[in-house]
Amino acid sequence: MENQTLMQYFEWYLPNDGQHWNRLAEDAPNLASKGIRKVWMPPAFKATSSNDVGYGVYDLFDLGEFDQKGTIRTKYGFKEDYLKAIQTLKANGIEPMADVVLNHKAAADCKERFTVVEVDPNDRTKVLSEPFEIKGWTKFTFPGRNKAYNDFKWHWYHFTGTDYDAKNNKSGIYLIQGDNKGWADDELVDNENGNYDYLMYADIDFKHPEVIQNLYDWAHWFIETTGVQGFRLDAVKHIDSFFMKNFIRDITEKYGDDFYVFGEFWNGDETANNDYLESIDYRFDLVDVKLHQNFFDASKSGADFDLRTIFDHTLAKNHPESAVTFVDNHDTQRGQALESTVEEWFKPAAYALMLLREAGLPCVFYGDYYGISGEFAQESFQDVLDKLLDIRLNLAYGEQTDYFDDANCIGWTRQGKDDGQPIAVVVSNDQASSKRMLVGPEWASKEFSDYLGKISQIVTIDEEGWGEFPVEEKSVSVWSVK
Ligand code: CA
Repeated sequence: MENQTLMQYFEWYLPNDGQHWNRLAEDAPNLASKGIRKVWMPPAFKATSSNDVGYGVYDLFDLGEFDQKGTIRTKYGFKEDYLKAIQTLKANGIEPMADVVLNHKAAADCKERFTVVEVDPNDRTKVLSEPFEIKGWTKFTFPGRNKAYNDFKWHWYHFTGTDYDAKNNKSGIYLIQGDNKGWADDELVDNENGNYDYLMYADIDFKHPEVIQNLYDWAHWFIETTGVQGFRLDAVKHIDSFFMKNFIRDITEKYGDDFYVFGEFWNGDETANNDYLESIDYRFDLVDVKLHQNFFDASKSGADFDLRTIFDHTLAKNHPESAVTFVDNHDTQRGQALESTVEEWFKPAAYALMLLREAGLPCVFYGDYYGISGEFAQESFQDVLDKLLDIRLNLAYGEQTDYFDDANCIGWTRQGKDDGQPIAVVVSNDQASSKRMLVGPEWASKEFSDYLGKISQIVTIDEEGWGEFPVEEKSVSVWSVK
């Protein structure tokens, strides 16, 4: 089977010009030619304003169609542009994947009065007050949509908590009181801060039957309206995993196992990831946060990092079938909430460690591919990524043999397709070095060269099938027959 590659087609600082869906549609043939087979698009829903990246979702039924929150279009364009981009991706053999933000709702239409207790932000299981009444932003009526597609109205009892009391003009974390209210069970959400159900805005209560029904209604409407072929689930560590497991089970039963789903479980802890995958019956994949953290640490530590440990405690190692690997994303780029940007010198090596190995579904970040402009600018890595993507698409197949035998220089080989040629990859985080690796006696006396073009010399394979493959200082080279 052909190697699959995912691309995250956005970064945080895209211009608010409503043209991104059009750019994506125009780029689809190019992406397909590079071997991109899935595209993760940014959230398409009407959010707090046209400048919202998409995570402050206001209305899941408004894809840039109704005059709400001061705009018809979203940051990325109009609904018809989104639908056209999706159709164009599919026409080019790329599966479009929607970023689905279900944890919270923002920018309510009206305030309501209801009873809460205030909890400790550092331990949300610890109640700081007696019950009292607040005025909170929890009533969503969507007047600009006027009941098109769906007439559900949200009220305070559809949420678990909120963070602002308009009555006293006071911010805090307020746990909503009432029958069957409360945070999601501790076992069903991340346990940071005692219980990490609450992230931001009005936090959706996945225990409420009306909420569950509305989200199922929405999912069917959304999938059938747009034709998306997969979901990226935002913030799943803050969402009741029992709901999510059932929700994705029911969607994939209806739309087929080819409907691909992965979740953002932002936690680098090995046990937490293993437990979460088990709790959802492995029904969707997870982003490999620990591998990103290892890449980040390696880039910061230089020669002090032991490259032999680069896959330690990662999903790629523990659950390669469930891992979506990535180098950086819209949250880890400079200036963002989870800033942990892999330093530029290590990015080509990190991408090689992701794109040229067996484990995981690799995700190429738009900001790395096209670069980032503005205050937090970053150069484009398109040249090296195009080479790595080409090697992934055409050569990085077959048995993988690791030579993780030196703290500062590691390598691996791939045997290639049955009728194909092998590759030998070398990574150094210190001075120039080389790695002796076996590509097979059938390649004796053949000349290998560096597909990344960093080194111009030729490596001739010896009679037993071994080669001594060099790498420059703090660099990566990929050797094969030209
Ligand atoms: Ca939540």
